[in-house]
Amino acid sequence: MKKRVFRAMFYMALGILLVSFALSIVVLNGHYSDFSREELRGQLELIAEGVQLDGETYLKKLDVDETRITWVADDGSVLYDSMNDAAGMENHADREEIREAMESQSGYGESRRYSSTMMSRYLYCAKRLSDGSVVRVSRGMNTVLAMTITMIQPMCIVLLAAIILAAVLSNRLSKQIVQPINNLNLEEPLMNEDYDELAPLLRRMDKQQRQLRKQKSELNQRQEELNTIIDNMYEGLVLLGNRGNIVGINNSALRILGATPECVGKNILAVNRNMDIQMSVSDALDGIESDKTAEIGDAIYQITASPVEFDEKVRGAALMLIDVTEKEKSEQVRREFSANVSHELRTPLHSISGYAELMKNGMVRGEDIQPFAEKIYQEAQRMIRLVEDIINLSHLDEGARDMDWAEVDLSEIAGRTVESLQETAASKNVTLSFSGNPVKICGIAHLMQEIVYNLCDNAIKYNRDGGSVEVMVKEKKEKVILTVRDTGIGIPEDQQERIFERFYRVDKSHSKEVGGTGLGLSIVKHAAIVHDAKIDLKSKLGVGTSVKICFPKRRPKKEEPDS
Ligand code: ADP
Repeated sequence: MKKRVFRAMFYMALGILLVSFALSIVVLNGHYSDFSREELRGQLELIAEGVQLDGETYLKKLDVDETRITWVADDGSVLYDSMNDAAGMENHADREEIREAMESQSGYGESRRYSSTMMSRYLYCAKRLSDGSVVRVSRGMNTVLAMTITMIQPMCIVLLAAIILAAVLSNRLSKQIVQPINNLNLEEPLMNEDYDELAPLLRRMDKQQRQLRKQKSELNQRQEELNTIIDNMYEGLVLLGNRGNIVGINNSALRILGATPECVGKNILAVNRNMDIQMSVSDALDGIESDKTAEIGDAIYQITASPVEFDEKVRGAALMLIDVTEKEKSEQVRREFSANVSHELRTPLHSISGYAELMKNGMVRGEDIQPFAEKIYQEAQRMIRLVEDIINLSHLDEGARDMDWAEVDLSEIAGRTVESLQETAASKNVTLSFSGNPVKICGIAHLMQEIVYNLCDNAIKYNRDGGSVEVMVKEKKEKVILTVRDTGIGIPEDQQERIFERFYRVDKSHSKEVGGTGLGLSIVKHAAIVHDAKIDLKSKLGVGTSVKICFPKRRPKKEEPDS
């Protein structure tokens, strides 16, 4: 910019200078010709006086270098000429100034023209004398070009000096103009006060800067939000370049792959050598989407690798790692459960089918029919219990969403259930008692009854002859505790956790003997989860078992069981 300002100023100064010179020459030329004319007229007056008095004698005595003097008779013939031989000169009567001097009243004539005799541009002044003759003086006039040529040397010197001065001044001025612009505070455009002319520009810059700052902060905010989401994602996310180098990785992926944030830029294969990851990445970089399940460390992950395409070319890949350990485990549990259900149902069905076949073939004696029918009935009952338990459990697996929550009295439910089991307890010679005051809690009555029933049923089934079962309901601040305590066979310590698994029995044959399905405690566990209740089991082999279920009085926010 400085150069442009300098050039503009310099050329402007030069232009003004040249125009000034040209004008000066024109004006000077005008002045000079006026001055020459006046001088020539003065000379003419003097010479005319002299010729009037002394005639040619006077003229011959005159010593004039530049001025040409001509004396012309009243008929136009040349009497005398200071620069040419008068005899050889043509008649001058037709010369404009001579004719004018002869004819005009004032006796004076004047003209400017190119003299073919002298081959130069001349100013002629003529005066008529009293005898009618005319004295004419003339002098060569310098033309503008001639004047310019004569002035060229001093002009060049002045021009050179002016150019140098213009250059120095232009340089200094352009610096002075540009310096404040160079020193503009662009961060705070409105703080600059050097040029009023720049104010609209600076205001606009300020406005744009504010807009930019706003947009930048919005972008940053969005970026931060995105980063926060990506970093807090439970799923691992890895973005790869077209050679498998890590471009971005979130915290979960770092944890899953056992990597550090410094891995960005490195190749994924150098960070984790898992074969499934390697294959997924190479598929994705070949443009093939892949979805695999693989074990990484102790957990099972679903690895989804997608190619990132741009302009129909694979530019990279996105790797998503989702922990499916729980899902896989529950799938496993479900598979085992189905196998167990089939197995559990097959046994009573085989028995029923076997007994029925014997009876059908008439291979059973008349007195044995009743015990056989009893066996068939027992097995059918077992199947019914099993099917009912399976249905209950499946229902609980689905979250028991359709069941009604209500204000229920746990003491009333427990008391009623205990009452319904009195006969069973008596048949096993077990004393069954209940204690508790009415206490309202928010729950699903049907499930609570299932809990009390299964716990009491186990306490009776796995009791000893003459043993006892105590059922208690106690209120404790915001909780209500249901306790079922028996004096039964107890549960070995190492199996106390496992008895809540489906179809897990401490003593399989004993359980079957007493009519157990292996699902009672699973139902208790899931029903407790629905109510957000905690189970506490204490048992000692040969002494007895105590199961405490601690219910919150209010309905829990979480309604679904988590396993
Ligand atoms: P089951 O239908 O076989 O009783 P459960 O799920 O109710 O199935 O119980 C699982 C296993 O836990 C039982 O088979 C039994 O071995 C043991 N068990 C449950 N409750 C008691 C208890 N009160 N005393 C001793 N053992 C028990």
